Amino acid sequence: LYSIEDLAQLIEELKTVNPEAKVSVKVPVVPGIGVIAVGVAKAGADIINLTGYDGATGAARRHSLQYVGLPTEIGIIQAHRALIESGLRHRVELWCDGGMKTGSDAVKMILLGANRIGFATMAMVAIGCTICRKCHEGTCHVGITTHIKTVEEATEKGLKSFVPRDYDMAVDGIVRVFNVIADEMRRLTAQLGSTCLQDLVGRADLLEQVAGLDMVDLSAMLYHMPMKPRLLSEPGIGRRLTRPRNSLTHTISNLILNAVQDGEQEATYEDEVMAYDRALGGYLAGELVRNPRIAQRLNCAHLNFGPSSIAGNGFAAWTTDQLDIFIEGGAQDGVAKSANGGRVVVMKGLNHKGTRLDGSVGKSFAYGAQRGLLIVQGNADSRACIRLSGADVIFGGEITEPLDDTSVNVGTRANLKGFACEYMTSGRVI
Ligand code: SF4
Repeated sequence: LYSIEDLAQLIEELKTVNPEAKVSVKVPVVPGIGVIAVGVAKAGADIINLTGYDGATGAARRHSLQYVGLPTEIGIIQAHRALIESGLRHRVELWCDGGMKTGSDAVKMILLGANRIGFATMAMVAIGCTICRKCHEGTCHVGITTHIKTVEEATEKGLKSFVPRDYDMAVDGIVRVFNVIADEMRRLTAQLGSTCLQDLVGRADLLEQVAGLDMVDLSAMLYHMPMKPRLLSEPGIGRRLTRPRNSLTHTISNLILNAVQDGEQEATYEDEVMAYDRALGGYLAGELVRNPRIAQRLNCAHLNFGPSSIAGNGFAAWTTDQLDIFIEGGAQDGVAKSANGGRVVVMKGLNHKGTRLDGSVGKSFAYGAQRGLLIVQGNADSRACIRLSGADVIFGGEITEPLDDTSVNVGTRANLKGFACEYMTSGRVI
């Protein structure tokens, strides 16, 4: 993700493919986190998870453990207040993590403005992690982040010591830890005069600075900012109503699913579309995954758009095996993002001479695609095929410069814009 617009686009696509989904966006606590949180809320996230500089997984690099990020406390208080000031606090839950160890740590975060708290390192230690920080080596000596199962296997691989995990004991350990934390949080909630922890969200006035007053004065953090009342309608305007976005993908999905329920094994939908028709095919892909019995009865759904159509962002994202999507004209960003089967073809329309000239798609074509055949007439804008992990991709652009074989980086030799094929793990790109 390179901008808040990218994030808004991704959230919109995720909610199109699964309208029930709650989208959580994890953000490190950095300077300006309040403004960032407001942007993430406006982008449509349901949960903002702020991660402070304490903690970090055993796989974190040493320099990022020591020199990156700000305390979770600062992030929570700034995000909570910025969201209240912009009237968006009721739209999102604020979660946080980063070095929490006790129920008291968690309650302090809630008083500063968090709704929920995450424990990561603490939970790992509860199941037996020794925080040796070697997860990335795949040879965890206590059998957590490794595929090694037995002492014999470990000896064969040259490990000096290895203790296989006892899963019952690990589960018992983590249950005990969280029961103790929960008891402490219940006791503190009662001592603060409340019966519900969520009633204490943002009650920073209940905190008191008891140490370090000669070094830092925290009084600017320790006051209660009341929530603004939720405005459901404005005087003289009433409730604002807008046309539901991505309505065409819902319409197409209903038509195809009705045809399958009528006994059809194959169906074709044809239309002309414009850039405001976003995430086309996304809702249908989600419905086929949610309804496997219907999906089994469908051989193929052909979605044909043309002859001078330009599909909006997220065209053919999340496709499944049964989808065959064709567009004549072009498509904007995020085409075939995370495709998981099927076929997607983006062609130029025929000109007055009956020829298809040039052609391209927007940014992030086939981003993270796992399966399927994805074809573009012409080139692609930046970030094509990043994290490609299994799909076959064909670009039909003409080679305009001789290939520079002294460079080994496939992306720099391709007829594509920046970052092409970064982090690609599998699949084929021609
Ligand atoms: S003990 Fe295992 S899980 Fe814990 S940090 Fe070391 S390698 Fe990672």
